[in-house]
Amino acid sequence: MNDGNCIFCKIARGEIPSSTVYEDEEFRVILDLGPASRGHALILPKNHYKDICDADRETAGKLFPLAGRIGAAMKKGLGADGFNVVQNNGASAGQTVFHLHVHVIPRYEGGPGMVSWEPGKAAPEELTETAEKIRESWE
Ligand code: 5GP
Ligand code: ZN
Repeated sequence: MNDGNCIFCKIARGEIPSSTVYEDEEFRVILDLGPASRGHALILPKNHYKDICDADRETAGKLFPLAGRIGAAMKKGLGADGFNVVQNNGASAGQTVFHLHVHVIPRYEGGPGMVSWEPGKAAPEELTETAEKIRESWE
């Protein structure tokens, strides 16, 4: 399950060298080449999935515990004060490499900004209607 043209497949398999911070049979965790902060890491499954919806649930279920362990190591090893776990699905969500990956971004007090968004407004009826649409589409 690998895509011959995918850069993250090549990195995950070790065909292209990377700054690896963790590796096991299923995952490689590397440092991002364009880090948002010192230590910005990417969790790459060794199998190719284009995004979280494409991955089997067993694989997807291992990502969050791994992100927590990496974040804890960043706090201990790099002195990070906190960290963001970010995962983009689709170009509209900012995904630029279409091989599933999870960003673990250490944050330092007084350092560059957090991943954030502008809170919007939604009427209660709108929330009810929106929730219903998602609920009806559950698989
Ligand atoms: P996305 O926007 O798809 O969620 O994130 C892709 C990330 O991969 C970006 O933060 C980008 O800096 C990083 N990236 C892209 N190409 C490479 C590469 O060849 N090596 C490494 N280590 N990171 C990369
Ligand atoms: Zn791939």
